[in-house]
Amino acid sequence: MSGSSPSAVTETPDNTGQVEAGDTHGVSPVTPVSIETLLEMVKSYNSAPEVQDRIRDAYAHAAEAHKGQFRRSGESYVDHPLKVALILASMKVDATCLVTALLHDTLEDTTLTPELIEETFGKKVLALIDGVTKIGKFQYQASKVEKQAENFRKMLLSMSEDIRVILVKLADRLHNMRTIASLDTPKQRLIALETLEIYAPLANRLGIGWMKSELEDLSFSILEPKTYQDLKARVAMRRKERKNYINLLVKTANEALKANHIPGQVLGRYKHIYSIYRKMTLQEIPFDEIYDLMGIRIITDTKLNCYGILGLLHSIWKPISGRIKDFIAVPKSNMYQSLHTTVMGPEGVPVEFQIRTEEMHHVAEEGIAAHWNYKENADSLPAEGERKVVAWLRQLVEWQKELPDNREFMDSVKVNLFPDEVYVFTPKGQVKELIKGSTAIDFAYSVHTDLGNRIFGARINGRWAPIKTVLESGDIVEIITNPTQTPNKDWLRSVATPRARARIRHWLKEEEDRQSADIGKKALESEFRKVHKSLAEFLKPPQLEVILSFSDLPTPTLDNVYSRIGFGKVTPLSVLRKLFPLPFETTIPSGGEHEVSSQDYPIVVRGGGKDLLLGLARCCNPVPGEEIVGFITRGRGIMIHSRDCPNLDHLSVQKERFIAATWDSDAGAFFDVDLKVLMEDKPGMLAAVSAAISAKGANITHAEVKQDRRKMAVLDFSLMVRDVTHLETIMDEIQHVKGVIRVQRIKKLTTASQS
Ligand code: MN
Repeated sequence: MSGSSPSAVTETPDNTGQVEAGDTHGVSPVTPVSIETLLEMVKSYNSAPEVQDRIRDAYAHAAEAHKGQFRRSGESYVDHPLKVALILASMKVDATCLVTALLHDTLEDTTLTPELIEETFGKKVLALIDGVTKIGKFQYQASKVEKQAENFRKMLLSMSEDIRVILVKLADRLHNMRTIASLDTPKQRLIALETLEIYAPLANRLGIGWMKSELEDLSFSILEPKTYQDLKARVAMRRKERKNYINLLVKTANEALKANHIPGQVLGRYKHIYSIYRKMTLQEIPFDEIYDLMGIRIITDTKLNCYGILGLLHSIWKPISGRIKDFIAVPKSNMYQSLHTTVMGPEGVPVEFQIRTEEMHHVAEEGIAAHWNYKENADSLPAEGERKVVAWLRQLVEWQKELPDNREFMDSVKVNLFPDEVYVFTPKGQVKELIKGSTAIDFAYSVHTDLGNRIFGARINGRWAPIKTVLESGDIVEIITNPTQTPNKDWLRSVATPRARARIRHWLKEEEDRQSADIGKKALESEFRKVHKSLAEFLKPPQLEVILSFSDLPTPTLDNVYSRIGFGKVTPLSVLRKLFPLPFETTIPSGGEHEVSSQDYPIVVRGGGKDLLLGLARCCNPVPGEEIVGFITRGRGIMIHSRDCPNLDHLSVQKERFIAATWDSDAGAFFDVDLKVLMEDKPGMLAAVSAAISAKGANITHAEVKQDRRKMAVLDFSLMVRDVTHLETIMDEIQHVKGVIRVQRIKKLTTASQS
């Protein structure tokens, strides 16, 4: 770069380019060109003879294939791919990309076969053409939802394994936009809208500033023709007014650079129409107050000189505070770098300066294409170019991480050009963004939980497919449901999205809860039946509240209580105990004993409440007056044993289940006891013993006589007594019957514990 520049204003696009509709980056849209023009242009940056041959060969095939086809604008069809290739050549892309451009419409519109393309130009070219054709098939549906457009752009990027697919598609769209006048109005509007929402932002994302600006202005002139023409006229007027003023500033800046021996080229620049329109509408600034319609750009050699020039300008004109932006230290998401400052010019009119190096300027204009390396390699990206492109993309991602709050980033860099995402369509054309590896199940859950829970199959691109089919970008997915279908554990291994995983887990947990609730309810009902009660009768206040207290939900439910019982978190007995309080040591209220008799037995149990479930142990048949103890059973209340019951030995391992109990008073009740009488085996003995018992006022309920090996008779009696004193009197009376050897109280050792 030379330090001296002409002082006359050289007009140039601003950072994102400025091109009026009809202005064409050096390529005439309709005037037919010849292949020689393309070859000349390529020669300027790549003179390898084999490259020329390949391009010539591709053109020959395209011309032959499109023979007899014409564009609406009248010229022969092959002019279109040729001009697409010219646009790309102006960006200095490689031969593979140019060959792809020349052949990009042959696969769809001509009889040229994929086999022939592959045979003649290689696998890579075929794959690239295929990619361009595939993108062309998607019809963007204008949507109110901005996210849709974003997803669509990302889908296009993710679908293209090779960035050259997007470059060819952008060039194709650009040429179609330049020649759009030949289409009817509704079609024009549709294409313009798609261009504005999808392709211009794509060009911006790839850093191709000039293309983004041109696409925007072309679309804008179609969508809002009146506003566009109006603004265009006003800008032209303003430029005329300001021309001398800008010239003056350019001259002053040039002189300052020279005086300070800083190399630099000073150029006048102006904003493109659509960016003015956006500024007016988004920031609500009237046209007259937009002072960066025209500005000045200085291109220098080093980063250091950029800052030097900034200081120099500020020493001449007063900078407007808040208007200095350092995009060199903090580049934009699309790698744009520059220093921006707005200064107050001599006539009190603010003027914006942009300062950058030549390299930064190149990146600002060409973006990702600026990183191309043009050494040819037939089938893949040249290693150097690929390395640079990958580095470029990595940088995008890095910056995104560093500056999560920077709106510019949130706005435009959510993208990574080879993302771990797939973009698929609903049958209505909505784009859904999913994690790579997602299946039809993921898709269904992304639409609606119910759709996921009942997914039975899918139609992918019109063909029936199993629900575990992995989706690819661009797939059109329709979910088939079955009302009886339910998720299963197996699905968890066939989903990629956290959402689907969470929904399936949620459903499975609910299902488990449902099953547990079922089990729990049955267990509780059975526990109630053991004590001859019916659960159903207690499912109302106040007992219902007691039962609900076992729920662990903020809003307790009966199902939750059942389910907790089913899971074993709550025992049915603990519910029963709480309903009919039992005397646990731990539940004894402090401040003394709480003694309450049971209704059926004259027994006092320490710490017991009302309605104790009491039973007299059948093994020892305790009687009043006798020392007793309570044993807390599972589900049958407290069983009262006599202190010398042989079963207490093995029950005593569960000490905590014993509870003190005493007889209340003589309440007139009778109690069962078993007696064994050993006596001589002679007639009349049974009658004599029976008489003795009856004499003492007790009833015999059962009697049985057996003979033992010593020819002795053994009498087994069951009788009802009032209490232990009554029993002792009876036993004493029997003992005195002649022939009776021994009277014994029987306390049976049971085989099963009294649990
Ligand atoms: Mn085309």
